[in-house]
Amino acid sequence: MEIRHTMKIKSIEATRIEYPDPITKRTPPRDGPSRGQLNSQATPMRRYASAPGNRRWMPGGARDVGCVVTLEDGSWGFGMTDYGRATAAIIDDFLAPALVGQDAMATERLYDMMVRVTSGFGSGSLTARAIAAVDLALWDVKGKVLEQPVYALLGGPVREDLPLYSTGNDTGWQKELGFKNFKRFSHYGPDDGIEGINRLEAEIAEARELVGPDAELMLDFWLGMDVETAVRTTERLRPYNLKWIEDPFLSESLDEYPKFRERVPWQGLATGEHWYGVYPFFNAASSGLVDIFQPDIIWCGGLSPVIKICHIAEAAGLSVIPHGSGGTAFGQHACYGLAAVPMIECSGPVMTEPGVPLEEKDRLPGTPVPSEGRLHPSDAPGFGLELKREWLPGFFS
Ligand SMILES: [Mg+2]
Repeated sequence: MEIRHTMKIKSIEATRIEYPDPITKRTPPRDGPSRGQLNSQATPMRRYASAPGNRRWMPGGARDVGCVVTLEDGSWGFGMTDYGRATAAIIDDFLAPALVGQDAMATERLYDMMVRVTSGFGSGSLTARAIAAVDLALWDVKGKVLEQPVYALLGGPVREDLPLYSTGNDTGWQKELGFKNFKRFSHYGPDDGIEGINRLEAEIAEARELVGPDAELMLDFWLGMDVETAVRTTERLRPYNLKWIEDPFLSESLDEYPKFRERVPWQGLATGEHWYGVYPFFNAASSGLVDIFQPDIIWCGGLSPVIKICHIAEAAGLSVIPHGSGGTAFGQHACYGLAAVPMIECSGPVMTEPGVPLEEKDRLPGTPVPSEGRLHPSDAPGFGLELKREWLPGFFS
């Protein structure tokens, strides 16, 4: 077979992301607790924290990592992930050497190559993040070469408008911003005993009262529960009609989910932001582990695995609400290009301190923000980001 229209990859490089702050107008936040204070969560480290738990195991080295894929004709695409030097080294030392010289348009082949070339040390976790940065850069440059937005390459937009939900414990501020659906975090874990359950119930009761019966309300346990406490808490919260309980258990502790579901079978359950590649989602779909998958496009391996995860979910009658999807151009395009997605999450990268308009949130130039409760991806080619090459100097340079 003669392969035509090849666009060869000239280089793949991890990079820091150094763009000038595009926000000139700064509205001061209102007096009161910050989002960070309100959102402190009972994470897996809660048992080792003297106060309700910040994510203390997340070091500063987890910073953002960009990836630039450059083609022989000079066109280039941008993708990103996080976890700093660890993922940058995987991109530069393992993925780039495997892919340089290949046809950049063959995104399916290239994703498969990245999974296979890293299989000796495992394609999950930090490797999946590195793969995501490269995969997203490849989809970006593909869109630029074909002069199409990525959601159109996927066959979208599937829907004209997707409902949004906002994440965080500043529910009143989110309501003011026009959000109609809300997810909260829990400050309390097993070590807080019945007192924690009582306090959480009071918070959820207040939130339900605030948002009314027609808003969806969800609760994220951020991996911080055990089965017994999760069951007791979920039973207590039944009157508040939570659409889903999210991430009650450590992401690799899969035996706890069926035990939980058996005891509270009426409760919707969501997970997946800490799952990598396609296989955990396939296994969960087969066993009916949860109702909603939440892959994170910049963590799980990029757009290529998210497409596969969406197809698996559709076949299993499940839905996919990608983690943090409203906060990046990558997530926005995926949501509008894939039929399994019924809703978009607007979390930390979107939300502002109480009183500060969403337009003033620091973000990659070219990333659309929600307006009047709506959020649509850019129509510009690729993911539509407006980045200059000189803002991406390399990671170790
Ligand atoms: Mg979550």
